[in-house]
Amino acid sequence: MSKYDVIIIGAGPAGYTAAIYTARASLKTLMITGTTPGGQLLLTSEVENFPGFKDGILGSELMDEMKAQAKRFGVEMIQDFATKVELGGQPKKVWVGKEEYHTKSVIISTGASANWLGLKNETRLMGKGISSCATCDGFFFKDQKVVVVGGGDSAMEEALTLAKLCSHVTIVHRREEFRASKIMQDRVLKNKKISVEWNSEVIDVLGKDMVDGVKLKNNKTGKTRDLSCNGLFVAIGHTPATDLFKSVLDIDSKGYLITKDGVKTVLEGVYAAGDVADPHYRQAITAAGDGCRAALEAEKYLQGI
Ligand code: NAP
Repeated sequence: MSKYDVIIIGAGPAGYTAAIYTARASLKTLMITGTTPGGQLLLTSEVENFPGFKDGILGSELMDEMKAQAKRFGVEMIQDFATKVELGGQPKKVWVGKEEYHTKSVIISTGASANWLGLKNETRLMGKGISSCATCDGFFFKDQKVVVVGGGDSAMEEALTLAKLCSHVTIVHRREEFRASKIMQDRVLKNKKISVEWNSEVIDVLGKDMVDGVKLKNNKTGKTRDLSCNGLFVAIGHTPATDLFKSVLDIDSKGYLITKDGVKTVLEGVYAAGDVADPHYRQAITAAGDGCRAALEAEKYLQGI
């Protein structure tokens, strides 16, 4: 039976940062990384807002660097999914298939994934003009035309961020009223650089190597038309990866883990870091900060048991 001080479930910026901190604190650390470690940054091309890389870095390279840094301090890694957990009391237990691992503390950093429209050309052009994060990628569309899909607060926020950079932003929303808070709606509707296509859906993404337009369908009239644009920002919500924890931890109505005092869950010695518990900021750097906090909390907890 393998026994650890800390098991970290999930390998994005939160998980790797937590691992670097716990391993450097001489805590025996195991990461269960999932089958494609790296998280959402693997879907991004250039990352220009992670401090320390003045010329930017590819999302995949940034994650490779974090992984190598964690390995340098002796973090063990299993490239598979955790399938079952028992997180109350001691020891805490995590299974990967039939293999059982015991640990004194657990850091959950399984992330959240952006919801996509599910179009074939959306998958093909991912990272080539398609994004789910205006803060991350808006700069690449400076003075260009972009489309934002969605009618919630995220879509409003994306549109307002993009309007500062782009020549024009078209919001495409499937209904004739936004779901977003009134204040965000007002800001959007007052902005001269933003227009709205109500009752409309993006039914295809156009472009050979890069996005050069979208096909819209008005769901009231059934009419379709092409709209030229250089970027498509999909802001139709995120799905946190919390299925494994549904019966053991507190989860909000959207599926996010609920934390108190930063990264603590309702169970002693169990922490949540990064997008899995953060519906708001969702940045690599904020996730990394959470990972650090969770590691320091785990270290403190382990000193006391
Ligand atoms: P959300 O509130 O769930 O809104 C998702 C939007 O996407 C809705 O307008 C929905 O349309 C649309 N949508 C969903 N699936 C779609 C599909 N397949 N095709 C086209 N449109 C689709 O998600 P969110 O905007 O990411 O916000 C999540 C939470 O974070 C909310 O509680 C929000 O208030 C909060 N948040 C707050 C702020 C802020 O306060 N500044 C910023 C961001 C997020 P329908 O309306 O027709 O369902």
